[in-house]
Amino acid sequence: MGVLGDYLKGLADMVLPRECMVCGRKLGIRENHLCIYCMADFPFTFYWQTERNPMADRLNAMITEEMERTDAIRFEPYAYAAALFFYNSEAGYRHIPHALKYRGNIASGQYFGRLLGEKAASSPFLKDIDLVVPTPLHWTRLLKRGYNQAEIIASAFSEATGAELCTKLLNRKKRTGTQTVLDNEAKRDNVRNAFMADEKVAKRYSPTHIAVIDDVFTTGATSHACYRALRALFGTEVRISVLTLGYVTSS
Ligand SMILES: [Zn+2]
Repeated sequence: MGVLGDYLKGLADMVLPRECMVCGRKLGIRENHLCIYCMADFPFTFYWQTERNPMADRLNAMITEEMERTDAIRFEPYAYAAALFFYNSEAGYRHIPHALKYRGNIASGQYFGRLLGEKAASSPFLKDIDLVVPTPLHWTRLLKRGYNQAEIIASAFSEATGAELCTKLLNRKKRTGTQTVLDNEAKRDNVRNAFMADEKVAKRYSPTHIAVIDDVFTTGATSHACYRALRALFGTEVRISVLTLGYVTSS
């Protein structure tokens, strides 16, 4: 943005001051969404730099458990998973997914989605992602919220990486409701069959590496449910990875 852009932004800041999403400090002209201090302290996971990490281990434990439970005999590659930052319910960075999900802060979702895309593009494991699939919302919730937060992130991710965005491949057939009162085991059973991949849509694509995108990764049950729905239509020669903004370290 040039001098005129800065001038206009300065004027807009006087009318409606922009605040840091994390600490609430008034933002300067050159700052976007986060102040320089919160940007400097940004809790990056750096998981995109490692093949194995606690998030991927959590996902792969579910994939392995599923294979054993269903006696499926097949080779399943170790699935990659990465989040942009550590999400701690005590830290101010929790406001990032929260503002996108509940307060309509689309611009911040795009900003951090793009950042996640840039990290993936720099990753030896994730740089070949060629199809981006957001975790779908149930249509009743989409109607209520007006947008799918995972789709906002996925769309910016797609722009940053050049990978194609497909919002029609996964469908949420079951409304899982609020899961906060369920324990982990119950959550997983609740969400296991919530998604279905559309066979007709799948035939239009021949991806080599699919990214399933969501806002946060907590137990991983939702991401795993998306993974298994896609795996039902794509053979194990197609990689399926999970990418989110936040990785929950405590709940
Ligand atoms: Zn700040």
